[in-house]
Amino acid sequence: MKNKVDVAIIGSGFAGSILAMILAKSGLRIALIDSMPHPRFAIGESSTPLADMILRRLARLHQLPSLEALSTWGTWQKNHPRLTCGRKRGFSYYRHQRGHVFSEHQLGEQSLLVAASANDDVADTHWYRQEVDSFLFQESLNLGVLEFIGHRIVAVDRSAEGSYTLHSIHASGESTIRSDWVIDASGAAGVSAKIMNQPDLTHKLQTKTRSTYAHYKGIGSWTQQLCKLGQDIQQNPFDADDAAQHHLTETGWLWMLRFNNGITSVGLTEWIGEMPTWPENSSHHLNQCAPRTNESQSLPRLVEDYPSLAEMTATASFVGPPNGVQSTGRLQRFFNPLLSPRYLMLPTAALTLDPLHSTGIAHALAGVERILDIILVRSQGKEQMLAMQQYETSFLQESRILDELVNTAYLTMGDFERFTAACMLYFAGAIACEERYQQGEVPSHLWNTDDPAFTNFVTRACAALRDHQEDYQDMISDGLLPWNTAGLMDPGVQNRYAYTATK
Ligand SMILES: Cc1cc2nc3c(=O)[nH]c(=O)nc-3n(C[C@H](O)[C@H](O)[C@H](O)COP(=O)(O)OP(=O)(O)OC[C@H]3O[C@@H](n4cnc5c(N)ncnc54)[C@H](O)[C@@H]3O)c2cc1C
Repeated sequence: MKNKVDVAIIGSGFAGSILAMILAKSGLRIALIDSMPHPRFAIGESSTPLADMILRRLARLHQLPSLEALSTWGTWQKNHPRLTCGRKRGFSYYRHQRGHVFSEHQLGEQSLLVAASANDDVADTHWYRQEVDSFLFQESLNLGVLEFIGHRIVAVDRSAEGSYTLHSIHASGESTIRSDWVIDASGAAGVSAKIMNQPDLTHKLQTKTRSTYAHYKGIGSWTQQLCKLGQDIQQNPFDADDAAQHHLTETGWLWMLRFNNGITSVGLTEWIGEMPTWPENSSHHLNQCAPRTNESQSLPRLVEDYPSLAEMTATASFVGPPNGVQSTGRLQRFFNPLLSPRYLMLPTAALTLDPLHSTGIAHALAGVERILDIILVRSQGKEQMLAMQQYETSFLQESRILDELVNTAYLTMGDFERFTAACMLYFAGAIACEERYQQGEVPSHLWNTDDPAFTNFVTRACAALRDHQEDYQDMISDGLLPWNTAGLMDPGVQNRYAYTATK
C-alpha cells in the first residue's frame, strides 16, 4: 500500500510543498508529485504584505518556525542566511519615454513609490524560487511527505466509492497512486484542467498580455541612475532598488527584482493587440500571441530604445534559466477550481492572470489556507461541501475583480496619472484586506473583494478611467474614502506613499 495516501498533491512548487508540510504535520499521509526535480527555475518571485501575512499565520498556527522566518526580510536573513532572496520595501513605478533619458520636471509626474513595510527588518522579499522551492520541498520530506519526483501526471480516475487513482509516467515506466483527496498545485501547467476536460473560461478575462523573462547578473542600480540624472531621491520613502521595480514603456512594462546574490530577475510584459487609449505615436501593435522560441540570451531588445534602462543594463549577462530566455504566448488562463468532490485546484493552478500587482503568491497561499480548512476542519459531509462552494465563490470573485483592476491598469498605462489612479484602487483593496487580517479576521476573499460596496465602486471607477471621464481624480478620491486609511490619492505627497504599511 505504499502508493495509497490520504492526499495526493500534484506539483511541488512552494504552494504544493507548504500544503504538503502542514497536512503531513497534521498526521495525514501525503504524496507530493512533480515531473521536475529540485532545484529548478520558477517565475513568480515578488511577495507582498498579504502573502507574508498569510504565510506567517499558517506557520504560527501549525508551529512551523522555519516557514515563519520566510515572512520578513529580517527573520529570513537571521534564520536562513544562505537562502537567496531580495529585499522588497514596496512598489516603484517609473514612466520612460522612447529615445529619452528618464526625467520628470516635478516629483511624482512620471514616478510612483508605494511603501509596503515600515523598515528593512519587516520588509517583504523577492523569492529566488529555485532555492526557496527546493528548501520547502525538502522541509516537507522531513515531515514525512512521500515524494514522487520525476512523475508526470497524465490521468486521474475516480472510483465508484469516490477515491482517486492518479496515473503517472516516469523514467522507469508508469505508476499509480491512490488517494482520497487530490489537490492540483501544478501552477500554470494546470494539469487537472487539461486531463479532466474542465471548461476553459479564459475568454471571460479582459487582460491580454505576454511576458519575456530571465535572470541576469551585472544589472546596475536604479537609485544610482536616478542620482546621475539629477533626480530627487531624498523624498523616496525607501531605496528604489529595494522594490518591485516597474519600468513603464510605450508597449508595456519591465519588472526588475534584485536578489542578494547579485542576480536580477528581469521581465517584460506587453499587451497583446492594439491599445486604443495609448498615445498616437507609440508602437503598440503586438498581435502575435503564439509562444515564441528562445532566440537568445539577451535582454528584451526594447531596452535599447530607453537610454536610462540601456545604461542600467549595459553590463548585464544572462544566468538562467538553463534553456534560455522564456517568451510566453498569452499568459492568461482561467478555470473553475472545483473538479469533483475532494478534487480541487489551487487558485494558481486555476488562474494565471498577470505579474502586475504581484498577486500570485498571495493567491496561492490563501488557497492553501482554505484547502487546509476544508480538509482538516470541515470534516462533516455537508459542512465540507459548503466550504468547497465558498472556495469556488471566493476564487471567482477575486479573479473577476483582479482582472478588472489589471486590465484597467494596462489600458491607462499611456497616461501616467490615470495609471496611478488605477493602481490606487488595487492598493486600497490590498490594504483594507491586510488591515482585516491584522485585526484577527480571516477574510473569505482577498483584496477586499468580499465587500460589495468596494467592488461596485471599483467597477465604476475602472469604467471612469477607461472612458477618460474628466473628473476621475475627484470621483476616485471621494469614492475611496470609506477604505482609504493610507491617504491614497493625496496630491500633496507627490506620489510618495510612505505610510501604507500595515505590519
Ligand atoms: C511571468 C510571470 C511573473 C509572475 N510574477 C509574480 C510575482 O512577482 N509575484 C507573485 O506573487 N506571483 C507572480 N506570478 C505568479 C506565480 O508565478 C505563481 O502564482 C506561482 O508560481 C504559483 O506557484 P505554485 O506553487 O502554485 O506553482 P508552480 O511554482 O508553478 O509549481 C508547479 C509545479 O507543478 C509541476 N508540474 C507541472 N505539470 C506537472 C505534471 N503533469 N505532473 C506533475 N507535476 C507537474 C511543475 O514541475 C512545478 O514544479 C507570476 C507569473 C508569471 C507567469
